[in-house]
Amino acid sequence: MKILVTNDDGVRAPGLAALAEALRPLGEVTVVAPAAEMSATAHALTLTRPLRVKRLSKGVYSVDGTPTDCVYLALYEIVGRDAALVASGVNWGWNLGDDITYSGTVAAALEGTLLGCPSFAVSQERSGRPAFGRAAAFARTLARRILEEGLPKDVYLNVNVPARRIRGVAFAAQGKRIYHDGVSATPGQGGKTTYRIGGYPEWDEQPGSDIAAFRAGCITITPLRVDLTDRKAISRLSRWTLPVPGAGREGRGGPGGRASRR
Ligand code: MN
Repeated sequence: MKILVTNDDGVRAPGLAALAEALRPLGEVTVVAPAAEMSATAHALTLTRPLRVKRLSKGVYSVDGTPTDCVYLALYEIVGRDAALVASGVNWGWNLGDDITYSGTVAAALEGTLLGCPSFAVSQERSGRPAFGRAAAFARTLARRILEEGLPKDVYLNVNVPARRIRGVAFAAQGKRIYHDGVSATPGQGGKTTYRIGGYPEWDEQPGSDIAAFRAGCITITPLRVDLTDRKAISRLSRWTLPVPGAGREGRGGPGGRASRR
């Protein structure tokens, strides 16, 4: 069984090596990961320049691109589309709530799913010094289960492992984080101010959310969908009257969508 391992922390990250090592007993592991750190690059695909693949050692490759580039190239050129599993991580730092929309780790699992492979992402809460043993061991348990049973179609898993004592495993929904003071500005020479993004976060601990379960000491597993559509909003927003430009009062919703009613 062919297993692809990738990440967004870069090919030299210890969490990647830990995950690859943990999955080795389950199949033929190939590592294809970004040459440099690509955290918070989300689902970016590099289309504006050619990509270079470098073989670093047996079964380990780097790509001078994003995590999504890695999965794409791996499944088309290096491993093959018949990979049984794509595992992304172990990321250094959790990916909870809407942080996952920025995560390259999670996006790699999305890409695997788009290309038809069961996929999951796994992240480790930061603590004093990087330790990936628990997350890697849990990833092996989960991977074994996925290889046996598969995943629902177009669903991938986002896994987070706390650094504290673990009290259980919880399937949980994507939660919400609120950021305060999101940008810090530093005045520079000649009035050229520079900015750093990232403020102090506060957690909205909705019951059933990944954040609440994680805070309670659980390893969280959030099943995510490729389809981002909010189906309730389609019926609700279809009531909006939105004339088509240039079509006068006759303008209505176009073909393919649901026409807006008057
Ligand atoms: Mn990362």
